[in-house]
Amino acid sequence: MISPEKTPLVEIKSDLTEKAGVKLLIKREDLNNKLVSGNKLWKLKYNLEEAKALGHKIVLTFGGAFSNHLLATAGAGKLAGFNTIGVVRGEKQDNLNPVLKRVTELGMKLHYVDRSNYRKKMQPHFTQDLERNFRNFYLIPEGGSNHLAVKGCAEFAHTLPDTFDYLCCPCGTGGTIAGLAKGLANNSSCKVIGFPILKNAFFLEKDIYSFLEDSSFQRNWQLIYDYHFGGYAKKNDQLINFIHSFFKDYSIPLDWIYTGKMIFGVFDLIEKSFFDRGSVIIAVHTGGTQTAGVNS
Ligand SMILES: *Cc1c(COP(=O)(O)O)cnc(C)c1O
Repeated sequence: MISPEKTPLVEIKSDLTEKAGVKLLIKREDLNNKLVSGNKLWKLKYNLEEAKALGHKIVLTFGGAFSNHLLATAGAGKLAGFNTIGVVRGEKQDNLNPVLKRVTELGMKLHYVDRSNYRKKMQPHFTQDLERNFRNFYLIPEGGSNHLAVKGCAEFAHTLPDTFDYLCCPCGTGGTIAGLAKGLANNSSCKVIGFPILKNAFFLEKDIYSFLEDSSFQRNWQLIYDYHFGGYAKKNDQLINFIHSFFKDYSIPLDWIYTGKMIFGVFDLIEKSFFDRGSVIIAVHTGGTQTAGVNS
């Protein structure tokens, strides 16, 4: 139904990598589709197949007004021929922000829910109300993380070369890193490093374990909590300057919510000799530049 395109693996050469004796590569998963970019495409892939197999015509999901996941669902729904409904946190504004404008153009119908009700969105009476309103839909949770999202991200891990030592990614809900860890379970020499972009996101450990369900393989992942820059969608001049100079040096756009924080963290860890000399590090560019890119 939707298959991500094959993307380049680009080496990032700098004095820093030279000095530390490591090889840093960026997997440009932000380029895997024109309409739906990055990890979100892999997370949606098997969900949409399941929705189709179950005979659904409508896909419903949740997100904040600047959500990459809403944008991805709207785009993927359009590609795969589903009607999409976005349940948006907060009141309707007179002017749609660029993300909500875009999802509307992609055919997504928006349903606004105030913040206190939004918190109850996974409770039965809330979903029953939605069922009454919108009939038969396939429900994808906020952020798109469920076991089918994990399956898609595990499949992505299999597109990577056989020999490398570290795989780095930013973490929101943890669905992506769970999939990467699962996909690399048989590659005993490779470790997955996640960079939570939420502050104090210690709950993630438990969530990642539950996304992994029955996986009994040895733990091959680790979270580094030092690069959230104050929390979700928080940024400072240091981060913005880093993103701009990275773009100037390598012509790769990063966003300041996810990938900017991760690559900043990877550079800092290289400088601090976190990675052994001779290591090959792959950082996954998970996308996100459409909503919070280098120039926005
Ligand atoms: C959603 C998103 C993430 C986080 O993925 P999770 O599976 O929620 O951890 C990372 N990077 C980008 C660009 C995203 O849009």
